[in-house]
Amino acid sequence: MGKRTKNLQRPSGLTRREVIGLLGVSGIALAQSNTGSVAAFPEGSIIRTVLGDMPPEALAGGATLFHEHMSLSPDFLPKFMSLLTSRPPTATPAPHPGETYFLRDLDLMTEELRAAGHEGVACLVDGGHPDMGRSLDFLKRISERSGMPIVSGAGYYSEPFYPPQIATSSEDQIAQSLIREVGSEPYGALGEIGSWDEMTPNERKVFRAVAKTHLATNLPIFTHTNFGKGAIEQLDIFESLGVNPRRLAIGHVGGLIDAQVHVHKEICKRGAFVGFDRQGGPGDARQIPMVMALIEAGYADNLLFASDFSSATQLKRNGGAGYAKTVTVFAPKVREAGASEETLRRILTDNPRRFLAFVPQQKAGRGRAE
Ligand SMILES: [Zn+2]
Repeated sequence: MGKRTKNLQRPSGLTRREVIGLLGVSGIALAQSNTGSVAAFPEGSIIRTVLGDMPPEALAGGATLFHEHMSLSPDFLPKFMSLLTSRPPTATPAPHPGETYFLRDLDLMTEELRAAGHEGVACLVDGGHPDMGRSLDFLKRISERSGMPIVSGAGYYSEPFYPPQIATSSEDQIAQSLIREVGSEPYGALGEIGSWDEMTPNERKVFRAVAKTHLATNLPIFTHTNFGKGAIEQLDIFESLGVNPRRLAIGHVGGLIDAQVHVHKEICKRGAFVGFDRQGGPGDARQIPMVMALIEAGYADNLLFASDFSSATQLKRNGGAGYAKTVTVFAPKVREAGASEETLRRILTDNPRRFLAFVPQQKAGRGRAE
């Protein structure tokens, strides 16, 4: 664990001196905004990036996007789309003969992440894991080369993607193996943890194992739902096992279109984060009224924004808005709809840091340190 803290890297938007200054912060650390609001982090809190632990204050200079993808296997999306549409996969896994899939292309991804850093992104969270073909080594290399801090998730995605041993392992066996995994590599979250449609018995088993992993490690959890389906059920499982909802983000709930924001409010009321995490595209128009309804109901502190980036057409190189599109495309629309600058700053900068920051458990510790 010691080597992680030595490895602290410079986050975008901060000078070396500023980062070194932040390292001296002790006790209850305070991040003061220019309008006077203060984000406090419990003593000893860190955000665990793939290159080392960082004090949450070091990411105050920009947006942290809590659900993106920077490494997937070339056949992940074709399989995902074919399951979603119940049609056989049509997309060819490799773009063109001789061309590297973009989520395997070191130079391209380095360039894209640098651009995102210049557009106000301070940190990106990757929601993949081995069952989606995510490579931790690739994340480390693009982070090192681009200077963009990356938090990597751990866990299992959803039933159609599970490795065979999930079916034959018990809940406790899955938990034990996850606890070992997150203890040996620099994982900063458990996510994305999904139910593909109606939650299956194996998915329920994984959710319970992830809850136990959280209790043993304090790592935050973010989930995948099929456009919000089963969102409350996910929350119920975690809460029934003692997970504090404040450490939990229910994902893709922006896709549940409801002017009354019934489910969204319920999640906020119980203290969890609501993920509007496929932003910066054609879905924005129907989701912005829901975001505004939640802000007006006093739930700005429960909102998390991201783009679930996974399409080559969205790359800067291909004329898209790139990894910063939550900041450069979606946030201006929310501002236009009436959200204040300060509210947007809180949602993009403070909420994700509050979500990600945790006090690591001692190696032998198994209890809750909330
Ligand atoms: Zn995702």
